[in-house]
Amino acid sequence: MSDSIFPVPAEVAAHAHVDNSKYLEMYQQSVENPDGFWGEHGKRIDWIKPYTKVKNTSYDYHNVDIKWFEDGTLNVSANCVDRHLETRGDQPAIIWEGDDPSESKVITYKQLHHEVNVFANVLHAQGVKKGDRVTLYMPMIPEAAYAMLACARIGAVHSIVFGGFSPDSLAQRIEGCTSKCIITADEGLRGGRKVPLKANVDKAVEKSPVDSVIVVKRTGGDITMTSGRDVWYHEEADRVSDHCEPVEMNAEDPLFILYTSGSTGQPKGVLHTTGGYLVYASMTHEYVFDYHEGDVYWCTADVGWVTGHSYIVYGPLANGATTLMFEGVPTYPSPSRFWDVCDKHSVNIFYTAPTAIRALMGAGDEHVTKTSRKSLRLLGSVGEPINPEAWNWYYNVIGDQRCPIVDTWWQTETGGILITPLPGATALKPGSATRPFFGVQPAIVDADGKFLDGAVEGNLVITDSWPGQMRSVYGDHERFVQTYFATYKGLYFTGDGCRRDEDGYYWITGRVDDVINVSGHRMGTAEVESALVAHPKVSEAAVVGYPHDIKGQGIYAYVTLMEGEEPTDALKKELVTHVRSEIGPIASPDLIQFSPGLPKTRSGKIMRRILRKIAEDSFDNLGDTSTLADPAVVDDLIDNRQNRG
Ligand code: ATP
Ligand code: MG
Repeated sequence: MSDSIFPVPAEVAAHAHVDNSKYLEMYQQSVENPDGFWGEHGKRIDWIKPYTKVKNTSYDYHNVDIKWFEDGTLNVSANCVDRHLETRGDQPAIIWEGDDPSESKVITYKQLHHEVNVFANVLHAQGVKKGDRVTLYMPMIPEAAYAMLACARIGAVHSIVFGGFSPDSLAQRIEGCTSKCIITADEGLRGGRKVPLKANVDKAVEKSPVDSVIVVKRTGGDITMTSGRDVWYHEEADRVSDHCEPVEMNAEDPLFILYTSGSTGQPKGVLHTTGGYLVYASMTHEYVFDYHEGDVYWCTADVGWVTGHSYIVYGPLANGATTLMFEGVPTYPSPSRFWDVCDKHSVNIFYTAPTAIRALMGAGDEHVTKTSRKSLRLLGSVGEPINPEAWNWYYNVIGDQRCPIVDTWWQTETGGILITPLPGATALKPGSATRPFFGVQPAIVDADGKFLDGAVEGNLVITDSWPGQMRSVYGDHERFVQTYFATYKGLYFTGDGCRRDEDGYYWITGRVDDVINVSGHRMGTAEVESALVAHPKVSEAAVVGYPHDIKGQGIYAYVTLMEGEEPTDALKKELVTHVRSEIGPIASPDLIQFSPGLPKTRSGKIMRRILRKIAEDSFDNLGDTSTLADPAVVDDLIDNRQNRG
């Protein structure tokens, strides 16, 4: 792996909230005296009744119990909206960019306040009360944010299901949290194509009935409304007042449920609560993105993922930021779209996922270089390890070598970013998420749970709680304990493999399940994939192990080529030679399959467990494939699999 170092540029350090010595000092305080540290930083949000207790958490396997700020009360929507009215009522809260480049609009904090109050009253009128679960199945339109904040305003618990999920997946998730109300739109629009949201809801509620369906009009497409159950949002909005008092919530009352993306198995209903989550989302947003008053900030995630929750809606709005919300896809109408939008709205901070970066890298530099991108100051990455190749392209071509990249490691479960550079403090190494955020204590353990010191590789655990941590699996606390606290008793197990280098930097090597053992050498699949992607003809790669008579495990590589490259045997040989020279003979792929598409979750992550099954020849037992973006990819992979011989 490339270990080149990019020091903090002087102008970035001068502008930033913290430099390196400040980071070290604050980090030290945060782990030595969490009560003092978070007691102070908890005040960054507004409390109705201030807390007197700060941290009350136990990782004891027999009694996992996590509480932060437990006697404080607050309202999240008041923090994200009302408290900004006096100082920045006319400032844009949300800049919305539609799927069609001719459509965009600006929503000020004043307007946001109006919209959220109305939406909250519509929910009330539908009989939704404090504590009720509400399922959102929405396109990326401002109403999605209004609906989230409206739930928070009245104390209802939202569960957002990404608009790309099938009716069956939606039904499962409605049932999972027994929600009685769904908020959706007639249709969504993505890349010029219509997404039949309401029709999918109709199918889902045949299996999991609900009392009411609130439908926002987006396209005006033809849909069926069932009377007594379905209502148009705009008609209901006309009937209610635009004043709704925010409900006083306890810090530990639930804020939302969100199902994980399902890369590794059955999705889990992750439960987040109110006070600690908001403190952590807003604090990480400010420090990690070095957010300053007046910045235009854009996170390209969907609100259906946790990144959209914490870093499109809750973190930025709690900080009074201007957050950009994008309805479309990176490649429509052309692969310049992201950069066109940056120019159009003068975006300063841009946060996306490696899958998007790799796809745009494959499309060619000309789509980037014809745009200005002058407003950009900082870039971010999340979702998967970013291969050094993609990192360098992001840095050189997108950021013109001017913008630091924050590679942020975190999970749905963690509520906010845990391991990340801080732009003014951290020298960067491409492919490393670098160092822990304040209050986060990572450690690396071996298979038996023994702590490993120094420069080592093993399993990533977190030894103590931080305010944004999930509190439970909804309705199944035992599953929470078994999933995260049973593998290594007394520690939060992330499920990720990790290497720590001589400088104490953390490198996520992929899921622990994805670590392969070739002739006794343990290897993260991410490393082999990075070597493959570094080849100029390769756009994406996924590597898994398969049973091998001599080596124990062999390396099976699925490779997607760049636009226009020919899949030949000669190229396979070239790739094997390339990996040997990049990493060493031990990492040589035994089998390479050229595959035009890879199975991905709807959040764009490669589902290696399916690739593993295919490589192992166990086709009948592919597990839960309901979260796949394009199930047809799997048949193609099976048809073209390589013989193990
Ligand atoms: P499931 O838990 O259902 O299998 P998932 O883990 O994909 O799904 P998420 O919570 O969306 O669901 O993803 C978190 C995971 O994504 C992390 O555990 C890690 O494997 C990966 N990840 C996220 N950010 C990074 C990053 N910056 N570097 C490396 N890996 C990352
Ligand atoms: Mg996970």
